Amino acid sequence: MKAVRGMKDILPVDAARWRYLEETVRTVLASYGYEEIRLPIVEHTDLFRRSIGEETDIVEKEMYTFADRNGDSLSLRPEGTASCVRAGLEHGLFHNQIQRLWYAGPMFRHERPQKGRYRQFHQVGAEAYGMPGADIDAEIICLGARLWRKLGLADIRLEINTLGDREARASYRQALFDYFSAHVDEIDEDSKNRLPGNPLRLLDSKHPAMQDLIGRAPSLIGYLNPESERHFTELRGLLDAVGIRYSVNPRLVRGLDYYNRTVFEWVTQRLGAQGTICAGGRYDGLVEQFGGRPTPAIGFALGLERIVALLEQEAAPEATRPHVYLIAVGEEAAAAALRLAESAREAWPGLRLIANCGGGSFKSQFRRADKSQAHVALILGAEEVRQSTVGIKALEEEGEQMTVAQRDLLDCLGELLARRGILVGPVN
Ligand code: ATP
Ligand code: MG
Repeated sequence: MKAVRGMKDILPVDAARWRYLEETVRTVLASYGYEEIRLPIVEHTDLFRRSIGEETDIVEKEMYTFADRNGDSLSLRPEGTASCVRAGLEHGLFHNQIQRLWYAGPMFRHERPQKGRYRQFHQVGAEAYGMPGADIDAEIICLGARLWRKLGLADIRLEINTLGDREARASYRQALFDYFSAHVDEIDEDSKNRLPGNPLRLLDSKHPAMQDLIGRAPSLIGYLNPESERHFTELRGLLDAVGIRYSVNPRLVRGLDYYNRTVFEWVTQRLGAQGTICAGGRYDGLVEQFGGRPTPAIGFALGLERIVALLEQEAAPEATRPHVYLIAVGEEAAAAALRLAESAREAWPGLRLIANCGGGSFKSQFRRADKSQAHVALILGAEEVRQSTVGIKALEEEGEQMTVAQRDLLDCLGELLARRGILVGPVN
């Protein structure tokens, strides 16, 4: 049996990095007042069709859609924003309220798998509701910048753009349609198909032959109304004031239909073609479109696989090396081993103690202890059980094995570990 194409196992050797990333993200989100929301993985297909947009790659060809047993069309979520809006409306979180929410979990898109692009991948999303001004745009961008700093990631560039309001976008769409239609012989097949339904998507094309044409395409800046222009100017002023560097990329349009005004991407050169590690923007119309009252909103999603790939280029995070390996030989030792192991874990909630299970001679258990890289071995055999003692040995050192009374074990072990800078602090 093999895993489904594009869906990856995360093995224990990699899980430490994932945990480090997830914990750091959670801490940073909390420091800005974001609260967690947990959302289902499956939703009605219509939810995505009506938010992400019929003419987008995601809805057209990337969703895992299936009929439920009662015939409803359901889809594995390809992203989190639509569910977040649905849940917020369903539970009355938006009306007259400010919300800062985050979620994490797997997303599903049937794309061509390649480095940094999978069919099951993981996102952390942050979404802020009820705030129309550029202050929250700036804050959510600061949050990203802080996260990269905390993670020790350098060389992450910020690109921003504005899509204006609905009217500006409609006129711009028309202008782009006219422009690309006039050059229809210069565009690739894919773009040709997209042109009638979603001409903005052509700006996103990675096709080398298209780049020159895209470069000369009309810019949206000329279509902005004064309020959108003011919003964008204010955002740039705030970013300047807080010292966040950015470049304005007038071709940055994002692949989802619901965005307006501010859009942004955090990009790195260090991952090859899949260089966007975080992307987002404003979607002021979506709550209303789903039947709620007008509610300004902005959010972003991090692609965790891509950030883990960057972390892999840095030094490993603190290992999950065990502190103690408990060796127990013979049937008599089993009960004492279990009792001692439990009391040690009770005493230090952060203790990592591996107890030998499944038997084995002293020799083979010591071999396992070495292999585990534990700092200290505890040894229980028939002799120790009879005398209510336990052996202690520091595994990285040549020194002798000591024997202590079982009732003194926690004190001795605590001291031994403390000398190595581990688990200092009182016994419970
Ligand atoms: P891309 O242009 O790379 O396809 P996107 O515009 O489709 O990205 P979003 O829907 O905005 O991406 O998702 C936000 C982030 O999630 C992306 O910036 C990326 O880091 C990550 N992401 C998106 N699709 C995938 C995927 N198939 N595999 C891994 N990560 C992904
Ligand atoms: Mg995509």
